[in-house]
Amino acid sequence: MRPALAKIDLSALRHNLRRVRECAPAASVFAVVKADAYGHGAARLLPVLEQQADALAVACIEEALALRAAGATQPILLLEGVFAAEELALCAEHGFEISLHDPLHAGWLEAATLARPLKVWVKLDSGMHRLGVRPQALPALVARLRACANVDAELGVMSHMACADEPARPNTATQIACFAEATQGLGVRRALSNSAGVLHWPAAHHDWVRPGIMLYGVTPMVGHSGADDALRPVMTLSTALIAVKQLKAGESVGYSAAYTCAQDMRVGIAAIGYADGYPRHAPSGTPVLVNGQRSQLLGRVSMDMICVDLSAQPQAGIGDPVTLWGEGLPAEEVADAAGTIAYEMLCNLAGRVRVETV
Ligand code: PLP
Repeated sequence: MRPALAKIDLSALRHNLRRVRECAPAASVFAVVKADAYGHGAARLLPVLEQQADALAVACIEEALALRAAGATQPILLLEGVFAAEELALCAEHGFEISLHDPLHAGWLEAATLARPLKVWVKLDSGMHRLGVRPQALPALVARLRACANVDAELGVMSHMACADEPARPNTATQIACFAEATQGLGVRRALSNSAGVLHWPAAHHDWVRPGIMLYGVTPMVGHSGADDALRPVMTLSTALIAVKQLKAGESVGYSAAYTCAQDMRVGIAAIGYADGYPRHAPSGTPVLVNGQRSQLLGRVSMDMICVDLSAQPQAGIGDPVTLWGEGLPAEEVADAAGTIAYEMLCNLAGRVRVETV
């Protein structure tokens, strides 16, 4: 069996959900599980999520239907909203909550014939300027939705923060103030915080929080690792050495001969590559663990293999474990070295990698 393996640690997920409750004790929790729970496999997380989260949030109806098919019984919110009026009936049938970000969608709701009223969240543009209505347009849209028989009386307003992972920037305080002012007195449920908001912006907690990345033990805070925010990694990606080479000074290894040995050295070949979701652009020097000890990537990442430095491990041999990220090696650090973000690395985990849930 190919040794590439993603271990999914449900006790770490439980721990991280407890961290959400510690940070935002008064808020209800939407566990954000879009993109198949950021690559972790939403279905395998359901037993924990059903116990410890109040509801689930995904990007779109396809993801919500997949969760229902996997046995999810909780409310599910569609964060990106619906893309066609025809989706509304399906949302009502399955009890999905929708977000809407344009008056056009209010028109769809007014014209629809639904089995029951839908729970609706209006997206407010509090400063990210991606989706959402401007604060001036909010009261009229709320009033219109309140008058619509297809909309549940428990209306919500949500917004998303652009820079909450960088506390030194002024944008977040401005967005928090904008959201508070725009929603004051409307009598709606309010939701503003992503993980960064949960961890570092108590004024953004309101009624519901929407943590994603922190559930998986990764911090969004720039320059931090999950441990700094008392989080535990849920996914550990590992593999094993499948070859060991003794190379001479001046010899190169891998595609493009991109790494040339400065002196004689031992090089290990590990069974993981970009077709497994390991970042293709990770450069020489990207950290890996071999036998639990720090080492580094050498040369180009191939489709199925990487080369690693064994200079400090004369005993290392075929079959020895190599950790790419997770326990002992923060995904944030690897992502940084590879010029990406841990979100992307986790979401990119490929279907061919074996998964073991512990
Ligand atoms: N809320 C919305 C609307 C989102 O789009 C996302 C993710 O992008 C989240 C919450 C969760 O964000 P994070 O993973 O940074 O906690």
